[in-house]
Amino acid sequence: MIIVMKQGASPSQIQAIKEEIEGLGLSPFIEAGSERTIIGVVGDDRAVQLDHFYTLRGVEKVIPILKPYKLVSREFQPNGTQISVKGQVIGGKKIQVIAGPCAIESPDQLRMAAHAVKKAGVTIMRASAFKPRTSPYDFQGTGKEGLKWLKEIGDEEELVTETEVMDPRDVGMVGSYADILRVGARNMQNFDLLKEVGQINKPVVLKNGLASTMKEFLLAAEYIMSQGNKNVILCYRGIRSFETAIRFPLDIGMIPLLKKETHLPVIIDPSHSMGRPDIVPEASCGMIAAGADGLLVDVHCHPDEALCDGKQALQPEHFYPMMENLRKIAVAIGREL
Ligand code: PEP
Ligand code: MN
Repeated sequence: MIIVMKQGASPSQIQAIKEEIEGLGLSPFIEAGSERTIIGVVGDDRAVQLDHFYTLRGVEKVIPILKPYKLVSREFQPNGTQISVKGQVIGGKKIQVIAGPCAIESPDQLRMAAHAVKKAGVTIMRASAFKPRTSPYDFQGTGKEGLKWLKEIGDEEELVTETEVMDPRDVGMVGSYADILRVGARNMQNFDLLKEVGQINKPVVLKNGLASTMKEFLLAAEYIMSQGNKNVILCYRGIRSFETAIRFPLDIGMIPLLKKETHLPVIIDPSHSMGRPDIVPEASCGMIAAGADGLLVDVHCHPDEALCDGKQALQPEHFYPMMENLRKIAVAIGREL
């Protein structure tokens, strides 16, 4: 960081800052200009409370130089992380389209969806038993019972399974039924949940919060990694904006930006972002072309009967041609699907 002293800061104030920096095990470099003094701090100061320096006399401004996140950053690890689960790799050459129903409703509904996505070439199925609903009167999910169906049908169809966990106390239990755990948008800053999934050795899909910045998103991933779990997959699902025509607008620039900032795999959720199925296929093509490592897509065989998010789910008949188009784009950019 760089500390800019106020105009006319006294030598004793400058000395006090110098001693403070040395006390933290860091080295100060003092540059006395004609108008004001600037103090450069050399060393890894990520753990230092920058705000503390604002409380010291004579300090005008504190400018951080290092990024606040470390383990997730590409500076720290230049090579992209590849996450393997049951023979499937996320973050490798293959684009992973994780697809399935938003919610697990019944064994029949899940079985039908599993069959449909498998037929399209999908190897990882999404489906949630725990649903974070805005209204307490909406369908809340089928809970543990639903997870049992997920395990059974995942095994039957030989699909890797991905599902949401909402409560830190359920992490072990959910992990005993599913291959990949998901922390949803509404829990991106549930720090106890982040710490808990950081202590298991299963991959975790982390979605960005509805109104979070990229920095907050990456710091949430840092929480998980700092607990030891290095298998984090970032899922960008758009954010709230003044624009309501799209449910959660998603800036395509976030894809190359996240890929530059972090070595973690980056997947995109076009369904929860677009909020309507008719524009999901075209938007998905753009997302893959922009460098996403995969997608998280809602597919339901009977959206009109869905208990959650039927409005945005793709029917298999629209999902199949979308997969064909994605395959062509994947090949064109030197990847596969
Ligand atoms: C979901 O993927 O099922 C979901 C609830 O999405 P989000 O957390 O992004 O709203
Ligand atoms: Mn949903």
